[in-house]
Amino acid sequence: MQRRSVIRSLATSGAAAGGLVAASSFPKPAIAQQTYEWRMVTTWPKNFPGLGTGAELLAQMIGQMSDGRLQITVYGGGEIVPPFESMDAVESGTVEMGHGAPYYWKGKVNASQFLAAIPFGMNAQEMNAWYQYGGGQELADKVYAEMGAKFFPSGNTGVQMGGWFNKEMNSMADYDGLKMRIPGLGGEVVKAAGGNVVNLPGGEIPPALQSGAIDATEWVGPYNDLAFGLYKSARYYYYPGWHEPGTVLENFINLDAWNSLTPDLQAIVEQANRSVNQVVLSEFTARNNDSLNKLVNEHNVELRAFPDEVLAGLGGLAGEVMNDLASTDPLSREVMDSMLQFRQTATAWSEVSEEAFSHARGLDYQYATPTQG
Ligand code: CA
Repeated sequence: MQRRSVIRSLATSGAAAGGLVAASSFPKPAIAQQTYEWRMVTTWPKNFPGLGTGAELLAQMIGQMSDGRLQITVYGGGEIVPPFESMDAVESGTVEMGHGAPYYWKGKVNASQFLAAIPFGMNAQEMNAWYQYGGGQELADKVYAEMGAKFFPSGNTGVQMGGWFNKEMNSMADYDGLKMRIPGLGGEVVKAAGGNVVNLPGGEIPPALQSGAIDATEWVGPYNDLAFGLYKSARYYYYPGWHEPGTVLENFINLDAWNSLTPDLQAIVEQANRSVNQVVLSEFTARNNDSLNKLVNEHNVELRAFPDEVLAGLGGLAGEVMNDLASTDPLSREVMDSMLQFRQTATAWSEVSEEAFSHARGLDYQYATPTQG
């Protein structure tokens, strides 16, 4: 591309005629191909299924697509900095890149929580649609500029599970005094319901649940929760993940480092993220069902649906929590308003598409079955 543009600029200059005739013997311009060696910190345990592996895939793709001009080494949470200091490391330029989930940065910029997931909000495809066609990318860049970073969606978990509990959750009163690990706006909702909420990076969840430091936790869904062995320390596995209906994972890049890249490398980073964004969602979709079977049939986990009364109670609190946040923080309001507006139209469409289809698929009728081998 750079070579073509050199020839094109010659063609428009006074030396054009001679230059074009001699084109076949025109010496290849010596273009200095700068190589970048970057480091990526993550909030995930190294190579953790779907999350850490998504970060690895991103680094690998960027390396291949750039023919090695942008090489990225990935570090698990705690290898360079603790998981929740990943944004500090990127903001300060200690490393160039990070991979995590936007709600981990609520202590720095409140509005980042909305960018990950809003309780009772939008599913994975609706979030992707908002980012690409609803102004989400531009708003996210505005939010991340406050942290000196460029933002890309970089994976999606799909609808998560409600979490692991050692008692049945029959009414809103069951949240009273419950010590639960739950991040983001969902955590604010559980707090409003009377819960005692903590946020822990993934790697710290299993020991906290086992020791009784927390009574309950959510993490992601069957695929990831099985990998952590959370079934060993809690009896009931609740659904659905009302708090994270399609959580967006993120790639954040130090703004100076981002601006130092050539436009073609920037395009590679953008497209690699788009690809990883879809691959990770597909991985979760493919693996969750098998993992759920294992949890229920091999580990005797008891599946429970949240009663409608509890869901409706949490939904009402979610509205209050978000309005409160927006009333004290203009950037949160701007992001929330954009998302709520998009959610309205997405919901109307979903009622006659995804929801109507799910209903049709679930009806009781004889259907074709796969041939047994
Ligand atoms: Ca979660």
